[in-house]
Amino acid sequence: SPSSITSIMPTSSAFPPIDIPNTDIWSFLFERKDKDFSDDKVIFLDPYSDRSYTYAQVRNTAIDFGKGLKAQWDWQKGDVLALFTPNCIDTPSITWGAHWAGAIVSPANPTYTADELAFQLKDSGARALVTQWAVIDTARKAAAKVGIPEDRIILIGDVKDPEGRFKYFTSVRNTSGATRYRRTKVDPEKDLAFLVYSSGTTGHPKGVMLCHKNIVANTLQVTAGEKPHLSSKDSILAFLPFFHIYGLTVILHQSMYNGYKAVVMPRFDIEDFCRFVQEQRITFSYVVPPVVLLLSKHPAVSKYDLSSIRMLNSGAAPLTKELVDAVHSKTKLKVKQGYGLSETSPTTHTQPWELWYSTIGAVGTLLPNQTAKYMSPEEKEVPAGEVGELWIKGPNVFKGYHNNVEATKNALTEDGYFKTGDVGYQDKDGNFYITDRVKELIKYKGFQVPPAELEGLLTSHPKIDDVAVLGIYQKEQATEVPRAYVVPSKGVEAGPKLEKEIVDWLSSKVAQHKRLRGGVRFTDEIPKSVSGKILRRLLKAKAQEEEEKG
Ligand code: AMP
Repeated sequence: SPSSITSIMPTSSAFPPIDIPNTDIWSFLFERKDKDFSDDKVIFLDPYSDRSYTYAQVRNTAIDFGKGLKAQWDWQKGDVLALFTPNCIDTPSITWGAHWAGAIVSPANPTYTADELAFQLKDSGARALVTQWAVIDTARKAAAKVGIPEDRIILIGDVKDPEGRFKYFTSVRNTSGATRYRRTKVDPEKDLAFLVYSSGTTGHPKGVMLCHKNIVANTLQVTAGEKPHLSSKDSILAFLPFFHIYGLTVILHQSMYNGYKAVVMPRFDIEDFCRFVQEQRITFSYVVPPVVLLLSKHPAVSKYDLSSIRMLNSGAAPLTKELVDAVHSKTKLKVKQGYGLSETSPTTHTQPWELWYSTIGAVGTLLPNQTAKYMSPEEKEVPAGEVGELWIKGPNVFKGYHNNVEATKNALTEDGYFKTGDVGYQDKDGNFYITDRVKELIKYKGFQVPPAELEGLLTSHPKIDDVAVLGIYQKEQATEVPRAYVVPSKGVEAGPKLEKEIVDWLSSKVAQHKRLRGGVRFTDEIPKSVSGKILRRLLKAKAQEEEEKG
């Protein structure tokens, strides 16, 4: 009716707007007047080695590293530094030191194969690569593929190259003592701070261009969302990867800004998680749904005292009400949810602490300084309350995809809205629920699996004629897993032998999280539109039917 049409209006955040300064990340973190913790407060701690960085040590080490980049390689504004490393307490100094020198930082998944890493190095145009001894072979191979010389590979972490073939973090620092180097000035709204990789709504991974202001904005938006519950007295467990935007902004930047102590884990381990909570009196942690599942199930959990935790925040993938209930009844732990994407720096919604149980199932309310609208498949706005694709506008929305005008045009509207590719609705109190995804992305335990990438590889297999890859939700693991629907080549026999051959073959070509854990299903035909696009909805419905049949 006409009256309901006039009521369609983008919803603004219910939070009062916050002041987001037009400033770069360095000034935001290190040149502030309003810090309420001391310079010698420990911010990043490695609980395995007991090595740590205070606020002042991060800052000073970062300046040294930034000067080293200028002194040794004449680092220029906009030059890209790639990171290929498991979580490490040296990463913050590297990251902000690179910013000091005007760099754009492009972090990559340390479980990538050489080809996957080489793709990102090439696409981002990285000039140098920071890595650790544990993954040096992959780093070397990838660097060689794209022509990054070996003396541009910088090692961080505790384990060193016994033969001294690579640059150490310390040797890139300003050992000359030269004082002539100055911090590179950047434009917070124009100059990029990060190029993180995401496949967005479709296709292969793309560089998500995040400017300094995007990160400053989201750090403040997230901080506003957690207020007044977190302060510099809090200790958080930091196992979420710093290469992913969730770990990068919400842990790295937020900890440094608010003075939380971040206890850094290179990888997730349930027993260590529980042990560190007890030993370090962890008060809060950012997690993903499979971690919530483990906490509700794993026998080690009951051996430890987890009572210091006041709240967990789950994000990056859907969390069910059943799981929140299960973990709470077993451990008394409270879990709230947050939601966001690489393109929104990331967090757009979080559940207020007080509402963690009364709005269970929601991903939260809209964080400050943003507006949202809900769109029909025909891109007509639907009234708030009805189901639609979520579009978001705010200072945390990215600048576009690197070297990809087409994808940028498809993702951002002229008036600044970003099309998330996620579907949901908000209730009358502004709590947002996700019900579906219109984009093709699959998420395995919070990690991105771009179907187009797997399909590209699989079609090059001689026994495969055509293929589509879908995400199948597995309740037992609280995650989606990728499954391939395969049309075998003429004369090739479909069956368990071929399935194994395909699964193994792909496993040798991709990072762990992209393996075909959902198996292979053989079919006569992949449903396609007249323009040749895979009709994923149709396939998905078929897959769901199969699942229900068991
Ligand atoms: P990424 O860019 O890797 O952070 O992936 C973003 C995507 O993860 C979103 O578009 C959603 O599909 C999914 N996602 C993130 N948080 C949630 C959540 N709380 N519930 C459901 N899906 C989520």
